[in-house]
Amino acid sequence: MTYCARCGNSANKGNHVLCRQQLAVEPPLHCTTCRRTLAVERTGADWTATCKKHGRTSGTLQSA
Ligand SMILES: [Zn+2]
Ligand SMILES: [Zn+2]
Repeated sequence: MTYCARCGNSANKGNHVLCRQQLAVEPPLHCTTCRRTLAVERTGADWTATCKKHGRTSGTLQSA
């Protein structure tokens, strides 16, 4: 099972087009593996999101 990093619902259910657009400009809110809320740190356009269980992911946002 994979979850949407933005809304936390099942990635296979519903429509996540808007979520994907949001994820281009804002860091993820949920772990895609366990749906836990991520601890997000942001420095400018770079972000690091930490799941207590699954560790860190990082990325860079699109500049507006
Ligand atoms: Zn979503
Ligand atoms: Zn997780």
